[in-house]
Amino acid sequence: MGVSDDTDVTRLPRAELRRIQDERVREVVKYAYENVEFYERALDDAGVHPDDVTGVDDLTLLPFTTKEDFRDNYPTGMFAVEMEDVIRIHASSGTTGKPKIVGYTRDDLDVWREVMMRGFRGAGLTAADTLQNAYSYGLFTGGFGFHDGATELGMTVVPTGGGNTQRQVEMLADLGSDAICLTPSYALYLAEVAEDMGYDPADLPLSTVLYGAEPCTEPMRTEIERRFDATAVENYGLSEIIGPGVAVECLEQTGMHIWEDHFYPEVINPETGKRVAEGEEGELVLTTLTKQALPVLRYRTGDLTTLDYGTCDCGRTVVRMDSVTGRADDLLIVRGVNFYPSEVESVVLEFEEVAPYYRIDLRREGTLDRLDLTVELTDDFDGSRAELEGRIRKRLSNVLSFTPDGVELVAPGSIERTKVGKVQRVYDHR
Ligand SMILES: [Zn+2]
Repeated sequence: MGVSDDTDVTRLPRAELRRIQDERVREVVKYAYENVEFYERALDDAGVHPDDVTGVDDLTLLPFTTKEDFRDNYPTGMFAVEMEDVIRIHASSGTTGKPKIVGYTRDDLDVWREVMMRGFRGAGLTAADTLQNAYSYGLFTGGFGFHDGATELGMTVVPTGGGNTQRQVEMLADLGSDAICLTPSYALYLAEVAEDMGYDPADLPLSTVLYGAEPCTEPMRTEIERRFDATAVENYGLSEIIGPGVAVECLEQTGMHIWEDHFYPEVINPETGKRVAEGEEGELVLTTLTKQALPVLRYRTGDLTTLDYGTCDCGRTVVRMDSVTGRADDLLIVRGVNFYPSEVESVVLEFEEVAPYYRIDLRREGTLDRLDLTVELTDDFDGSRAELEGRIRKRLSNVLSFTPDGVELVAPGSIERTKVGKVQRVYDHR
């Protein structure tokens, strides 16, 4: 198609978009089957031939691709092209074992820049704006993904990368950057450091905070917006699919638009593997429709979300995904009760007496699980700690259907801050 202006392809009547998707699914399944031994075997084992797949509805015939498949085919066994056609390598840090290695052809990088540009435009940014990129440059896809997309759009890019937070603050103030991209936990840390340096973060010239790469609850977003007096929009992506740029919020802030002409989404019940009804929560499964170096069929992201196919108030017709409520892997089971850390976070942030910093410690005492929550107080708290601890405990037991064993309030600044990489809030000692 070669559509470069997102006003066309992201606002198509859905039937028309569907025709593009059907055609591309046919192509990518055939392409993966013919060029990746792993897919040839997987489809043969499932008794499916590429000719059986006539469109997106037939994707359900295909087996899923999982992160274990990346591990088993480490480093480049999932690639569909020769290394001479690969012009970029990235990798996602595996929490266990080897990282997942991903590769890009020249055309793949074009697609990546294109989808990143759509995101910037959706957030109201233009070539006239300056973007400070506080994502790490390197094997992680965040740094280069944002950098290349912003450069393509013609923005002024300030490639600070992750860390060196005082420098980040000075650069923001001195260069007057309009936008910054970073993880939500780092955004809050940056605000804190700015305050320590004598700045009011709300006075910094930032109008837009582009956050992603780790889960963020709505109260946390509100907090980021309040601290910087800016609009905060979420982006979603993963290296296995392309990196950041799979989906991004527009200024309506009603879910992230998935660029469906390149990435086809399904939502499944993580236990049965069956597609759920429209609008129901489940695990996001993505199929790349145009990738050359690394086509991926039905990748189980592990991320839990819901999809909304209604036309957005911004006019775009591509589907919107909800903020990821948790990873299927992150599900905590404590004394037989299932919940996600994000549920604890939502409760914590309801209390204005506490700062958005907390940690959850899980231990086993004999045969029993024990959950302790540590939360940081705000600077100006002068009430009774015991009384506040009691209220937080009570609220948690209402929301989570069990009572945490300990809630401890600690002095401002005493919970460790994440300066580079993803935040860790749950410590499972069991
Ligand atoms: Zn929209």
